[in-house]
Amino acid sequence: MQIRRIIPQLVLTAGFLFAAEKQRVLKPGWNLFSPDQDIKMGQEYAQQIETQTQVINDPALNAYVNRIGQRLVNAIEGQKFPFTFKVVNDPSINAFALPGGPMYVHTGLIAAADNEAQIAGVLGHEMGHVMLRHGTNQASKANLIQIPAMIAGGLFDKGGMIGSLAQMGIGLGANSVLMKFSRTAETDADLFGARLVHNAGYNPVELARFFEKLEAETGKGSAMTQFFSDHPNPGNRITTIQSDMKFYKAKPYETSALTPELTQAKATIKKLPAPVKKPAAGAVQAPTGPAVSTTVPNGFKQHQNALYAIAYPGDWNAKPGQDGVSASLTAADGVVKGANGQDDIGHGILLNFVKPNSNDINTSTDELIKGITQGDPNLKPYGAAQNVKIDNYVGKLTALQGQSGMRKGEKENIYVLTVMHTKGMFYGIFVAPESRWQVAEPEYQQMMQTLRFSR
Ligand SMILES: [Zn+2]
Repeated sequence: MQIRRIIPQLVLTAGFLFAAEKQRVLKPGWNLFSPDQDIKMGQEYAQQIETQTQVINDPALNAYVNRIGQRLVNAIEGQKFPFTFKVVNDPSINAFALPGGPMYVHTGLIAAADNEAQIAGVLGHEMGHVMLRHGTNQASKANLIQIPAMIAGGLFDKGGMIGSLAQMGIGLGANSVLMKFSRTAETDADLFGARLVHNAGYNPVELARFFEKLEAETGKGSAMTQFFSDHPNPGNRITTIQSDMKFYKAKPYETSALTPELTQAKATIKKLPAPVKKPAAGAVQAPTGPAVSTTVPNGFKQHQNALYAIAYPGDWNAKPGQDGVSASLTAADGVVKGANGQDDIGHGILLNFVKPNSNDINTSTDELIKGITQGDPNLKPYGAAQNVKIDNYVGKLTALQGQSGMRKGEKENIYVLTVMHTKGMFYGIFVAPESRWQVAEPEYQQMMQTLRFSR
């Protein structure tokens, strides 16, 4: 008697628990831009991107990627953005999408994929960022005040959008609000991608497998890590995709084997010439013209190009960048191996000249410091930044402290000098381990005073 009364209740509870687990609903977040503005913005950025990257014109390769892309587009339910798919000659394993639909697939991604479903999975993920409007959502949240004023002023409708956006510091450079996504946006793009490839008949597990493969390679300093710098790993992405798949109607998926078409695409990529280095967004073209020169103190040498000159200790090594603008100047033992096997500066300076998004020294310095500290979580600001004047240009001197890559367990001091110039922003990163700072610091101050810029 009593048992009979308990059983229905147990069943009810079980039913309730099951119903409580609902599939996450994906929809675009709050946004100050209209979908049409996403499209306009994306098309303008696409023009800009295509002058900086090497888009491939191989008809077979383009047709292959477009066939995968269109299959996904056809699987989107309801309103869709006008997606386009292009292949970029770049060995890093990456793909990216601009607001409103332009999509770019790196050759490195196709080379690394085990099957078509993995390429489709990454494209689906990127299409998720576009459909859920993550870029303009993030830009809206970061510029609550300026954007409505620009929309009200009709600025975005009259001329180009990206010029107005650049004035707010929004562009496609490193850590852009449009291209570097939050972890929540990443999870939603994963779920969008998994559902989309399922609708298109690809196995969503392959997206999870591909991320697993990328994660296994991360930290080895290979081209694999590129994807995660714009798409930070939200953690548990494989479990997240698998638990979402419980809600999918079972259907037969296309084979996960390597198809002849993909084999052919990989062969085409292998035969491509190495990509031509084009200046990255924000880079300053090396100007022609006479080199700037400075007064060289006793025991010093000078490093000079058409934009700036600086004196540095006579026993240091100079390594000018191929761009004709950047350089590293290091003490004899100042170059150390970084965690990923790359060369790092333990004692020395890195110089560069960039085109900042803003002409305001404070805004552009903040952006640079943010970029530097995001690249190394150990780095922390040290005291307040100072206003300085170098060669009659306004500048800022910001101190940072981190862990020395040169002396294990020791701290490292860093000065970041930024100077606003008519042709862009100069920056110098002056590094030394704490135990050498007493000698290095006055030397760095002296070097800064020798800086001269083109007029
Ligand atoms: Zn992403």
